[in-house]
Amino acid sequence: MSNNTVNVVILGAGTGGTIVANKLNKKLKKTKKPFQLTVIDPSFKHVYQPGFLFTMFKKDKTHSIVKDGKKLLPKNTNMIEEKVKKVETKDKVVITESGTKVPYDYLVIATGAKLSPEKVDWWDDSLYHYYSPEAADRLSEKIENFREGKIIIAIGEIPYKCPPAPIEGALLLDDYFKKKGIRDKVEIQYCSPLDRAFSIKTVNEVIEPIMNEKGIEVETFFNVDDVDTEEKVLYSLEGSDLDYDLLIMIPPHTGQPFLHESGIAGKSGWVPTDRETLRVQDQENMYALGDTTDIPTSKAGSTAHYEAPIIAENIYKDIIGDTNLTKYDGHVQCFFLTEFGKSLFIDFNFEHPPKPGKPSRFWWWFKLFFKPFYFRAVAKGLV
Ligand SMILES: Cc1cc2nc3c(=O)[nH]c(=O)nc-3n(C[C@H](O)[C@H](O)[C@H](O)COP(=O)(O)OP(=O)(O)OC[C@H]3O[C@@H](n4cnc5c(N)ncnc54)[C@H](O)[C@@H]3O)c2cc1C
Repeated sequence: MSNNTVNVVILGAGTGGTIVANKLNKKLKKTKKPFQLTVIDPSFKHVYQPGFLFTMFKKDKTHSIVKDGKKLLPKNTNMIEEKVKKVETKDKVVITESGTKVPYDYLVIATGAKLSPEKVDWWDDSLYHYYSPEAADRLSEKIENFREGKIIIAIGEIPYKCPPAPIEGALLLDDYFKKKGIRDKVEIQYCSPLDRAFSIKTVNEVIEPIMNEKGIEVETFFNVDDVDTEEKVLYSLEGSDLDYDLLIMIPPHTGQPFLHESGIAGKSGWVPTDRETLRVQDQENMYALGDTTDIPTSKAGSTAHYEAPIIAENIYKDIIGDTNLTKYDGHVQCFFLTEFGKSLFIDFNFEHPPKPGKPSRFWWWFKLFFKPFYFRAVAKGLV
């Protein structure tokens, strides 16, 4: 530790990075040792991504889901507004794009998932999605002007963040066109790469019948192979082809390239992370949380929320010499919107699959309440 000051560096100021910074700040104060908390992010624009499901229908404004991330971090944080280029793991130094060198004693990786449409040769700009603020806004124009025809929602590749989000998109499209009085003119089809609509069986038992009841056609075993954007045909590896008028395609995701280039992650960029201690495998004093890990659970904000205190606790324990590390149990909670006005609630961990009830108005209102609560309390590490 340089000059006895403990240097903790967090890469990424999204959901995981911000919560862990706030939690760590409190814990580090308890060690009574001098410390420096540094957060590195290229923009410090903090995006509340569940809001895309509202902005794509113009039911919320982009400026209300994208906030100044610096205001969500502890005041004593050293904030470096740059992209990380490399981590020299031997020397324990982070190098930014401008060449700034930031030494660390503890490193927390929270750089999320990168949308990587360039990974596939069939992607072009005629495809729509709602996985970034700009893409959701662009789609909102298209949806607003859509009068009749067939909409397909498909998955570019597994894994992708927020597993319910593509199905939620399909269910909300159904409700949107119903309320517009033109549902009979709009066909909605959902393509799942799996043998069922949703990955978790107990949730699928509730969701797929709702999709059927609403007339959303579910095409299973559909792994995207190619798209002919001129002829508007979508092809699967399994041999089917589907015509469309509007194709909403969840783009392929990867980890951030610098993680592979730094020898921390494999080619996919997902960081090999111990699912309980959240330590990065084969690295010293390095932790990861949120979408960037290879932990086989949902890439969700809620996952990062429940992982953050585990990392704060484990770094604290390491500093005070307590070897009994705290373990993450895989806890994830999530709302699953089934229409404008109803939602399911899902709660599970590594050992216990979710037991969803029925969609209710209560969880819908809870979901609406959650956005202000997220910015006021969750991101600030208060809960
Ligand atoms: C449509 C949609 C709906 C969703 N709904 C839900 C929901 O209802 N519930 C839920 O729990 N989750 C939901 N999610 C998922 C949730 O938003 C993400 O899982 C969550 O944001 C992950 O947090 P993270 O910190 O890992 O990544 P992010 O929040 O994406 O943050 C990553 C940060 O890393 C930074 N970064 C990237 N590259 C670099 C670099 N080279 N150097 C430095 N910094 C870098 C970025 O700028 C960003 O600030 C949804 C996602 C989508 C797309």
